[in-house]
Amino acid sequence: MKILVTGGAGFIGSHVAEAAVEAGHEVLVVDDLSNGRTENLPPNADFHPIDIRNRDVFRELAIHFKPDAISHHAAQASVTLSVREPLLDADVNILGSLNVASVALECDSRLIFSSTGGALYGEVPEGQTAGEDWPALPLSPYACSKASFELYLRAFGQASGLRYTILRYANVYGPRQDPHGEAGVVAIFLQRLLRGEPIQVNARSQAGDDGCVRDYVYVGDSVRANLAAFEGALDGRTINIASGVATTTRMLAERLVGLVGNPAVVDDGPHRPGDLERSVLDPAVMVSILGEPTPLERGLTATTEWFRNQAQLP
Ligand code: NAD
Repeated sequence: MKILVTGGAGFIGSHVAEAAVEAGHEVLVVDDLSNGRTENLPPNADFHPIDIRNRDVFRELAIHFKPDAISHHAAQASVTLSVREPLLDADVNILGSLNVASVALECDSRLIFSSTGGALYGEVPEGQTAGEDWPALPLSPYACSKASFELYLRAFGQASGLRYTILRYANVYGPRQDPHGEAGVVAIFLQRLLRGEPIQVNARSQAGDDGCVRDYVYVGDSVRANLAAFEGALDGRTINIASGVATTTRMLAERLVGLVGNPAVVDDGPHRPGDLERSVLDPAVMVSILGEPTPLERGLTATTEWFRNQAQLP
């Protein structure tokens, strides 16, 4: 098959591109490198440093390639930046995505959209997990733009027969995640622990508590979902890609300190305004189609090894 991966120089997109190459697909990556890195690209993928908002250039490239499926990962992916710059967020995540959708329609390609389960459902009450049928309750411009494009996809599916899959990722972690941003706590903690630097557990509500509760899902599970979607196995579906396991920031910190094995200082930090206190998703639909998610211990071990090897590189 021919697979176009937008955002394929970024964290998740590069894993999808790599796995697609390994599965024998012909892969074309589009990424404007605003957050991606060419080092992330798989060697056998064709790469074009293009902004998805550049309609004419993107369209010409895609029409020439004729993809069977488009795995759409290019996005303004920072919640914090979306609060500061909601217009930029909407420009990339809604208008840029509409360019991708219109090309998918023109090329009769499947479109697999990387949405957010972590931000879409808002606060998830204690003891509960958010299923796909929960109402969207976006609390940030980022969640609004992702929820909006989901609505466009449904409309295009109804009106024009677009074949699409919506993957609502929880908090994805794994090798190649950027440790320099404000999100991606696994990458941030690992880089600091491997350098012998202190890490900080930001409070869920009061300083000294165990921090926010999240659903950490291994990047390999996102990849499996994309590979299945390319084949049409998930057409028309909206699926949480999640572990269903509630993990506090402190639990995560303790596991990573154990895996790294260096003495570590774990400080308490304040609550960060805008952070959801609790987000945990129901993975039942994913499990029924794709099997069990990667256990946290296994995913964190693989991620720790990758970051350890990176730290040892000259
Ligand atoms: P990332 O920032 O590593 O990857 C996004 C890529 O898109 C980057 O390489 C960036 O350079 C590229 N990009 C940004 N704007 C672009 C544009 N206008 N044109 C072309 N390329 C552009 O982020 P990620 O964590 O790999 O996320 C990938 C996708 O998954 C995003 O759509 C994100 O919203 C979604 N998602 C991620 C998570 C997570 O936990 N990481 C959770 C839910 C959803």
